[in-house]
Amino acid sequence: LNNVDDSTKPFWERPLQSLNRDEWERLCDGCGRCCLKKLTDEMTEETWYTRVICRYFEENSGQCGCYDKRTQLVPDCLVVSTVDIASIPWMPDTCAYKLRHENKPLFDWHPLIAGSNNKMQEFGITVSGKVISEQFVHEEGLEEHVIRWVTA
Ligand code: SF4
Ligand code: SF4
Repeated sequence: LNNVDDSTKPFWERPLQSLNRDEWERLCDGCGRCCLKKLTDEMTEETWYTRVICRYFEENSGQCGCYDKRTQLVPDCLVVSTVDIASIPWMPDTCAYKLRHENKPLFDWHPLIAGSNNKMQEFGITVSGKVISEQFVHEEGLEEHVIRWVTA
């Protein structure tokens, strides 16, 4: 009976496992938050986000500049799949995949609901304009760039 009910819902309200590839890709809000560099405390496993972003992130478009080759070029690039979401506690707490994995609704600003990414920009969800490329930051200097506007 659940399946019958689910089939009438928009795909972003259905269980992640039921999404086809296209729906899965469209669930991503394009915020860019998962492309930020993170620091993790090995003792507590706590994660802090920094404003430093992957060198391939294109700030103007908010897109990945090497999407098809990202796993080869950036070994720690996150390719989200249904299998691994549970094992990635540091995913941003606004991430559509994390929300749906936890059976929570998307936020009203999500482009699928709002119809555009204007609200995302208004609410400061997108990272564009607030980040610095890793090309300009020494790895040991990451701590100086810790931010509080993205949390896991
Ligand atoms: S944090 Fe989630 S929703 Fe945002 S760009 Fe990354 S995968 Fe997409
Ligand atoms: S390779 Fe692309 S998707 Fe991966 S972290 Fe860099 S910009 Fe983001």
